[in-house]
Amino acid sequence: MSRYRDSVCRICRRENLKLYLKGDRCYSDKCAFDRRGYPPGQHGQRRGGKISDYGIQLREKQKVKRSYGLSEKQFRLAFEKADQKKGITGTNLLLILEQRLDNVVYRLGLANSRPQARQLVRHNHFLVNGWKVNIPSFQVKVGDVVEVREKSRSVQAINDAVEAVVRRTAPSWLALDAENMKGTIQSLPTREDITMPIQENLIVELYSK
Ligand code: SF4
Repeated sequence: MSRYRDSVCRICRRENLKLYLKGDRCYSDKCAFDRRGYPPGQHGQRRGGKISDYGIQLREKQKVKRSYGLSEKQFRLAFEKADQKKGITGTNLLLILEQRLDNVVYRLGLANSRPQARQLVRHNHFLVNGWKVNIPSFQVKVGDVVEVREKSRSVQAINDAVEAVVRRTAPSWLALDAENMKGTIQSLPTREDITMPIQENLIVELYSK
């Protein structure tokens, strides 16, 4: 799988939205989007003009895909899964992404960003219901308990994140026990729990062509 190797701040500037991909830096005055809120590149400040419908749909898909840090293939698989479920495909897609283990770790505040959460999950720092799970795309369900492994409780990145958790409270579908570095899935997320401005219908239109 090809990896994105350029500055991740360029992604926020490209999508014209803060995606909070760099942890603490995103909340500081060093945030590149706050300082240069125009598209990256030599002609970034001059770009404008009319964007085609396809272009608008594509940007919406890229925004969500990059926010959750998925490759095109992973995103397409999530979309197919969403399409097979009952209900509204666009909403299903967002809820599938939201229920990923790496997202839950981030939402609980046990990591400072989704990229960091994914790395911590991959490095075996978390248990789900007492079992070691190192698959970032693992789908949580109601009643699951996600916790930092005993031997990982001294990991600096996790401690820094827990200290900073006051900055962004956990959503209501999750309950954080910061002292014990664990969280419980109280209910499944709903569309209203996702506050990032997303028009998921545009992604459905794009993939339905
Ligand atoms: Fe995006 Fe964070 Fe970089 Fe700001 S600091 S541009 S929010 S990744």
